[in-house]
Amino acid sequence: MEDCLFCKIIKGEIPSNKVYEDEYVYAFKDIEPVAPVHVLIVPKKHISSLNEVSEEDEVLLGKIFIAIKKIAKELGVESKGYRVINNCGKDAGQTVMHLHFHLIAGTKMGEKLL
Ligand code: 5GP
Ligand code: ZN
Repeated sequence: MEDCLFCKIIKGEIPSNKVYEDEYVYAFKDIEPVAPVHVLIVPKKHISSLNEVSEEDEVLLGKIFIAIKKIAKELGVESKGYRVINNCGKDAGQTVMHLHFHLIAGTKMGEKLL
């Protein structure tokens, strides 16, 4: 999608530190990491947020989580643990309107919200 930051990153029009890529998924380091490991996992298909996911994205969503698991293993955080976060909408603080999951690890994290 034109004018979407993450679509431009996926196409290579904006540089990124790629961590992983396959047919469905692109993953790269967050520009403002909140932990030693902070990777953004995005579908190559433009979907604005979790609200816009549809039945036809069923396989894609599975691929995203398989990719997250592989990335956690590759980065060596699999056994110590990690968080996967999706911000959906204003109250959650979503700033980029292209579905993405934050993989955060490498530090002992604070209070759980849930
Ligand atoms: P959100 O707040 O929408 O859940 O997450 C957006 C994330 O994208 C933020 O953590 C922010 O640091 C990251 N981000 C914003 N612009 C860029 C960029 O140009 N490159 C990279 N690598 N990350 C970005
Ligand atoms: Zn996009």
